[in-house]
Amino acid sequence: MSPSIAVVGAGIAGLSCARALARAGAAVTVFEAAGAPGGRAGAHQTEIGSFDHGAQYFTVRDPAFADAVHAWESEGIVAPWHGRIAAMADGGRAILKSDQPLRYVGVPSMAALATHLARGVDVRLEERICRIERLDTGGWTLQHVADPALRAGPGHIEITEGLYDALALALPAPLAADLLEGAPELAALARRVRIEPCWTLMLGFGAPLDLPYDGAFVEGGRLAWIAHDSSKPGRRSGERWIAQAPPAWSREHFDDDPDDVRVKLWKAFTELTGTSLQPVYTALERWAHALPEAPLSSGCLWSREQRLGVCGDWCAGARLEGAWLSGRALAQRMAQSVADG
Ligand SMILES: Cc1cc2nc3c(=O)[nH]c(=O)nc-3n(C[C@H](O)[C@H](O)[C@H](O)COP(=O)(O)OP(=O)(O)OC[C@H]3O[C@@H](n4cnc5c(N)ncnc54)[C@H](O)[C@@H]3O)c2cc1C
Repeated sequence: MSPSIAVVGAGIAGLSCARALARAGAAVTVFEAAGAPGGRAGAHQTEIGSFDHGAQYFTVRDPAFADAVHAWESEGIVAPWHGRIAAMADGGRAILKSDQPLRYVGVPSMAALATHLARGVDVRLEERICRIERLDTGGWTLQHVADPALRAGPGHIEITEGLYDALALALPAPLAADLLEGAPELAALARRVRIEPCWTLMLGFGAPLDLPYDGAFVEGGRLAWIAHDSSKPGRRSGERWIAQAPPAWSREHFDDDPDDVRVKLWKAFTELTGTSLQPVYTALERWAHALPEAPLSSGCLWSREQRLGVCGDWCAGARLEGAWLSGRALAQRMAQSVADG
């Protein structure tokens, strides 16, 4: 009989792990807290078009990842983004960068990649796992909150999911650590990795801003990156921009009133771009866990004895490529272990 494996988290790491395990013959079930797969590589859908509110693009270094990207590109799931990228000092002039790495994006939004990876995989959406338990008889059970809206309230009911031969957690490090009570060594490794937050402002305009760049890395100040989201390939027409605050500023203002953050980031955007146009749409995202500060280099974590694995961008060099590689590395470890018995 095929081994049954549960994966918690349907970001790029969890989906890459699940697909590789399924290909190796396992019966895989993925549990995802959100209403769609993708995690930090998702998209914010609005009436005026989508915003890549998390990962902006990805680059390719690893040969195995390059092979996967070429296959996705030939299927139209990703495409290169030849945006004009600038470097700016806060309040300074934008200088276009030459000799840029090839940047890829999902088409028609970053969410396309996760949607593709989730195809054919049993992904249970809106199931936030709140407890994992290894039974004395072997095997794992998971509990999720019946109604996420009631998570902390009096109606909090936990539902127990079936029995699995092995379990993979594909979550940002602090969230993985919270579930790893029964595996203190893995929890300690996860607790070592700090993941920086990121306040992100989404802006829609009724007319083009006509700026001489499509993306800019900013040094100093309240913004670290601004991007003309609708300049990416395959996007709906319109004028949509993303503005991301740097980690230190996001950390310092993490608990601020979102309206204050919106005003401050908008002011910084107008100062940088010189625009006098008022946005017709704004939205704000506060990413509690955006980018790992000092990721591990182990690729993944695996306890053969407990049949418990952990993967995510923070195990393999951070960023989308790291997440995909980490999921795949864990699948290889798990498939080998489960096959060895
Ligand atoms: C603002 C921002 C900008 C970024 N820019 C870039 C970039 O330009 N280029 C790049 O390569 N990378 C970028 N990244 C990083 C990139 O998005 C991540 O490295 C990658 O998407 C991480 O994937 P993951 O699967 O490891 O984690 P995640 O995407 O975080 O996936 C974890 C999943 O687990 C789910 N989950 C959480 N808790 C539970 C639970 N208890 N039960 C069930 N499910 C749960 C979450 O909803 C999520 O779907 C950016 C990230 C952010 C936030």
